[in-house]
Amino acid sequence: MAKDKLTRTQQIERLKRLGQQAAAWLIGCTAWALRDWPDAPRNADGTYNGRELVAWARDRLPRPAMTDDDVERLLVVQERLYGGYPSEGETLSIIDTLQDLRARYGESAWLVFVDLLIAEWAELDEPRRAEVFRVPTEAEIRHRVDQEIANQRANAARGRLQVAAICDYCGKLRRGQRWVKGEPPAGYVSVEGCCPQCATREDKM
Ligand SMILES: [Zn+2]
Repeated sequence: MAKDKLTRTQQIERLKRLGQQAAAWLIGCTAWALRDWPDAPRNADGTYNGRELVAWARDRLPRPAMTDDDVERLLVVQERLYGGYPSEGETLSIIDTLQDLRARYGESAWLVFVDLLIAEWAELDEPRRAEVFRVPTEAEIRHRVDQEIANQRANAARGRLQVAAICDYCGKLRRGQRWVKGEPPAGYVSVEGCCPQCATREDKM
């Protein structure tokens, strides 16, 4: 028994290089949570220094242990925020969700949400980061505007049932059961489609 006992130095050496499970156990969280905290101090080889980790954990507010259902609700909110501008209804639902979580878990429920947001974006590498902040070229902006105008026109035309399907691949126009060469009738807006011939070709590819 005494033979297996680690010396003081050996014990300290071991605490300097902890695996994720042991490190998480040391500060009382799940390995999953620890992995997703991008600012948790780590050694170059990915292990954790126990002393540095404890000091770091002492400085941060504990997160509540949420049920899977509630974490799922936060993930849905997070995904919705990445999808572009939420509508008024979606914004109200997001606020309702966050208020409900605060009522049941306390203020720190929002920290879980912030952790999720940071974890999602912290891994962005430099090229992607540069791309996100890049000012689009004039041609790119024009292209987006053209696209938006086309979408708006197509939506308005759909409302009046004045759309003509054009094959995206060969440019043929749908005329009932047939696809023919030609232009959409005056006042009709062309929308993308795929003729049966091109569809078959696509399948074979
Ligand atoms: Zn076609």
